[in-house]
Amino acid sequence: MRLPLHIGLDDTDSTLMGCTTYIASLLVEKLADRDGVFLDYPNLIRLNPNIPWKTRGNGAVCLRIRMPEDRIDEAMEGVVETVEANSDLDCGKTDPGIVFFPGERIPKELSDFSKRVEQDVVGKHEALELVRRFNAEAFAFKDGRGIIGALAAIGETLVGDHTYELIAYRVERNRGTPRRLDEASVFRMDKVMKGLTFNNVDYEKRGVLVTPRGPDPVLLGIRGESPWAVKMACGLVKVQEEVERWVVFRTNQGTDAHLRRRERISQIKPYRPVITVGSLSRKPKSIPGRHVIFTIGDDSGQIDCAAYEPTGRFRNIVRELTIGDLLEVYGGVRPASERNPMTINLEKMRIISLVPKVSTGNPVCKFCGKRMESMGRGKGFRCKRCGLRERKAEKVHFQMKRDVSEGLYIPPPRANRHLTKPLSRYGLEKKFEGRVPLEFWNLGLNGISISP
Ligand SMILES: [Zn+2]
Repeated sequence: MRLPLHIGLDDTDSTLMGCTTYIASLLVEKLADRDGVFLDYPNLIRLNPNIPWKTRGNGAVCLRIRMPEDRIDEAMEGVVETVEANSDLDCGKTDPGIVFFPGERIPKELSDFSKRVEQDVVGKHEALELVRRFNAEAFAFKDGRGIIGALAAIGETLVGDHTYELIAYRVERNRGTPRRLDEASVFRMDKVMKGLTFNNVDYEKRGVLVTPRGPDPVLLGIRGESPWAVKMACGLVKVQEEVERWVVFRTNQGTDAHLRRRERISQIKPYRPVITVGSLSRKPKSIPGRHVIFTIGDDSGQIDCAAYEPTGRFRNIVRELTIGDLLEVYGGVRPASERNPMTINLEKMRIISLVPKVSTGNPVCKFCGKRMESMGRGKGFRCKRCGLRERKAEKVHFQMKRDVSEGLYIPPPRANRHLTKPLSRYGLEKKFEGRVPLEFWNLGLNGISISP
């Protein structure tokens, strides 16, 4: 008799070493060895990216399995040992957490909790309260803040929009050295797999985005719409070093799961990523560091919006905006500081409507079509060429073309957050019906063939 067990992990990594997904990939193998049967691809859940105390990517992981009843204790011990052995416990900011949830179904309270951890700021006591109520078990190392994310990963069952990421890991001796792969092959793969994968490369700066920087064990990560798409895409990349293991994760990346709509600007709070609408009330201004700032408002209040330097050409669109333009803005919310008011860090922007650009000038001569000149305030105009005088004529207004058009604008992929839905995913949003495509099971788990 096999019983369901959901295992959530979070906050095991630091900037210097380790990676929660890598620990998950080790656990996949260990749990499979102990007769575990996977109910889903390992889930990689990105949490609110605006939390000030987050670790590197603010990603938590959940493994959903069925284990033989008599091997559950042994499996749980194995998980705790693996996390302990592979976490960067010496890093001051790393506070790993593990949660084991035994239920068949994920209770609604838990899904609601997850949504809040993705969009909001949630305290540890709330997580512990839910752990108690649902007879889950939590293991905390150090201050145990990781329990929040670990439990949130369990509660996020990705029934709404979701994507996949294949992550391949480096062998230990190569970690910390430059990653070796043929960059041109990544650009070719991106063309072939258009619409099926996303954020592989950045065309504005001609850069490859599938490889992280830094000493962590990740060799590359390919994001896409289905398990087979990311697997196929990975096969098209010419990797020039040894791959230790790879796993396909089902994730909330590229789905905008962190953004919550606020109808009124006065409802916006620091650290809660937001979608809101307002009309531009202060013109875009460039500030040192080549960032661009403007203000939007509605009848409830005003808020600053910032397009930072890494958003590249996106700032050129922002600079074209003028007072009265109606905008829908998307982004994280930075609290007010001594120097700046509360600010939305723009992740994307929809121009809903543009005010007409009007220019004022002297009237044109009816005979020769030349612009007339003023004879002084209230005295009318005179044509210099033919001498026509018009005492009653007044200044005229004419509409000029705006150098920007209505629509959705998203900074280039290199500036996107893990959770930001890229332009290429619009229209591809999907629902998870609770059934994972069976034929691809063995693609998800480092070649370990597993059936649900
Ligand atoms: Zn004239």
